Amino acid sequence: MMKPKLVILGGGESGVGAAILGAQKGYEVFLSDFGLITESYQSVLQQYGLKFEQQQHTEALILNADLVVKSPGIPDKTPIVAKLLQKNIPVISEIEFAGRYTTAKTICITGSNGKTTTTLLTYELLQRAGLNVGLAGNVGKSFALQVAEEHFDYFVIELSSYQLDGMFDFRADIAVLLNITPDHLDRYDYKMQNYIDSKMRIVQNQSADDWFVYCADDPVIIEELSKRTINAQKIPMTITKISELGGWIENEVLKLNVNNNTFDMTIYDLALQGKHNLYNSMAAGISGSILNLRKEGIRECLSDFQGVEHRLERFLRVHNIEFINDSKATNINSVWYALESMQSPVVWIVGGVDKGNDYSELYDLVKQKVKAIICLGKDNSRIIAAFDGMVKEIVETKSMEEAVRSAYFLSEKGDTVLLSPACASFDLFKNYEDRGRQFKDAVRNL
Ligand code: ADP
Repeated sequence: MMKPKLVILGGGESGVGAAILGAQKGYEVFLSDFGLITESYQSVLQQYGLKFEQQQHTEALILNADLVVKSPGIPDKTPIVAKLLQKNIPVISEIEFAGRYTTAKTICITGSNGKTTTTLLTYELLQRAGLNVGLAGNVGKSFALQVAEEHFDYFVIELSSYQLDGMFDFRADIAVLLNITPDHLDRYDYKMQNYIDSKMRIVQNQSADDWFVYCADDPVIIEELSKRTINAQKIPMTITKISELGGWIENEVLKLNVNNNTFDMTIYDLALQGKHNLYNSMAAGISGSILNLRKEGIRECLSDFQGVEHRLERFLRVHNIEFINDSKATNINSVWYALESMQSPVVWIVGGVDKGNDYSELYDLVKQKVKAIICLGKDNSRIIAAFDGMVKEIVETKSMEEAVRSAYFLSEKGDTVLLSPACASFDLFKNYEDRGRQFKDAVRNL
């Protein structure tokens, strides 16, 4: 019998994982990447005897596929994808593909901000409780590779909207939606509703046995829920009012009530500080309660979680000036939460590739908390125009070293230097990790 043909577009972590899983499940696999495939992934593909090409797309092979798994980084408008869709060849994401071959319970986490933090926290919670759990999605090894080679009972999966776009039959046992604020609109025809629809795919196929955990303080989510029927059990999270179900804050105590489990813990014992992290801690705690994990274990994990690099990472004090690396803050909403959580005067390092930011949302916080702004980007004109006259000093810099030195010079004992750029990093850095590392190196060299 002829094997069905699986074509994989994109030779990164998810593509290579999907190729391995596809071959294992009896597909004839061909992987194609229009760019370069890193040497390490090339050698994995060779080791598994999988056919691949790079720096080209051979249409004759690709358009002959029975099924295509597309890397989340490739937009639907890319000519090759447009041609596949025109021919009605199914194009799915690696998560959708791998989901077909596992019966593990899935805890899926999405939102515009907080995904990685919440995913890692939830994963640690389940792992510490002794569950046989894998971590997948945007973090670590691909879901597909783990489905092919491991035998987990649970997966905690971080899902971006791009991954959700390629998901159709996949069903999450627990779906977590942290927030929806404008991001990546360039991929959604600049229509917010398209982006919202993408995020809402997290609940598709859910039934009354499943769970949907969502932020009830998010106006976009609330508005959207008023228009839809949700089949799963709805579990709200709020920090603005007292509730009876889900997660809420009462007299500085984080309270949970879900699945007949109640839980409480003073917010001062939480490892992750800042308002936004209350939701992240709640989401993890709720998932743990749904799975009936021991309260003591949840409490312990929420109080000693180490945090995640580049997310409000308080890594060093120099002469009593605190340096915080929030390089992952690439949009206005995450910067809002960063500034909101600052307790001392801030010298703020901001800038990079602006994706169409509306800085006015930060005006109140900047007036209250920021004493100086250090712009770090090739083009800083929009930032300067937005904040001119609002703070004592605005300085332009062109390298991380220069930015850190200027920030240090402008700060006094007790101040905080915060790198929270509100922008993407690729004008001056390889990626946000590179930007965060250069920041930390420059601070260490002061
Ligand atoms: P994501 O994976 O969704 O990009 P991260 O956990 O990497 O989210 O955090 C990205 C940025 O957003 C960081 O600056 C972090 O401090 C901030 N952040 C984390 N959780 C939230 C939240 N619930 N709401 C808003 N901002 C958040």
